[in-house]
Amino acid sequence: MAVPFRRVSKMKKGMRRSHQALSVPGMITCPNCGELTLAHRACSNCGYYKGKQVVSIKTTEDAE
Ligand SMILES: [Zn+2]
Repeated sequence: MAVPFRRVSKMKKGMRRSHQALSVPGMITCPNCGELTLAHRACSNCGYYKGKQVVSIKTTEDAE
């Protein structure tokens, strides 16, 4: 229910907003290329997981 903002104390506001923090996803540095990537996922930069190439990454930005 809507409540006028002057009726909500700073403490009540703080108590409500104490649950709004965002969490950082688990990040690791890739052991193959050293790029920051999500843990337990194939590396988005080189496609390696557990020391093996599991996804082929297409490089479309090649100049030649
Ligand atoms: Zn990598």
